[in-house]
Amino acid sequence: MSSACKLAAGNWKMNGLRADLDQARALAEAYPTPGCGVLLCPPATLIAPMAAAVAGSALMVGGQDCHAQDAGAHTGDISAQMLVDAGARHVILGHSERRADHGESSATVGAKARAAHRAGLVTIICVGETEAERDAGRTLDVVLGQLRESVPEGATAANTVIAYEPVWAIGTGRTPTLDQIAEVHDALRAAVPDGAMSLLYGGSVKPGNAAEIFAIGNVDGALVGGASLKADDFGTIIAALEAA
Ligand code: PEP
Repeated sequence: MSSACKLAAGNWKMNGLRADLDQARALAEAYPTPGCGVLLCPPATLIAPMAAAVAGSALMVGGQDCHAQDAGAHTGDISAQMLVDAGARHVILGHSERRADHGESSATVGAKARAAHRAGLVTIICVGETEAERDAGRTLDVVLGQLRESVPEGATAANTVIAYEPVWAIGTGRTPTLDQIAEVHDALRAAVPDGAMSLLYGGSVKPGNAAEIFAIGNVDGALVGGASLKADDFGTIIAALEAA
């Protein structure tokens, strides 16, 4: 753990209906004054109702993507300003599912990050290698290359968080060894434009492995997918981060 701000961020992906806002309410009630930042990023349809449901609590709400343009003819897309208007304070950008499913390049991620910063959002910029890239010994090359191309000029610890998410660990139940996580996070710490940026690890973080991951130097929190859907599971991860 470094001296950067600690953050437990949940990515609900394409999961969640209004009935699931109960999970956000439960989390807000269980952690009225958490010892770390706590963020949930639900699908776009739930940003405004979730922000309303947890209003007055410390729980923050974010988006999962935004467009690089501020407004205009982009059917089906959502702008950074719309996220802010709905109650979001953060936005996840460059998640590997966006890079793979929507062909997003690091240059595209960088353009989206600029738009998000213009709107006043904190960006959570994701980087991570595929299994083939790791097997080929290219992990640091890939991750540092994505970092260089995705993080825009003007990025600081106040407006940017980096999430290291090995693609092969997302949703698979597999995680890198603690040494492998440490190696990448140490390299990221040396490479980020502002050394105080929070560095999150993401990829099959669960209540059972969170504490050992948070004990790694230069891991300042987690980006959590599946285990963020249930308040009990995410709450255990938040408690582990508070204790780290
Ligand atoms: C993610 O979606 O960013 C993620 C890390 O998912 P999971 O925790 O389910 O592996």
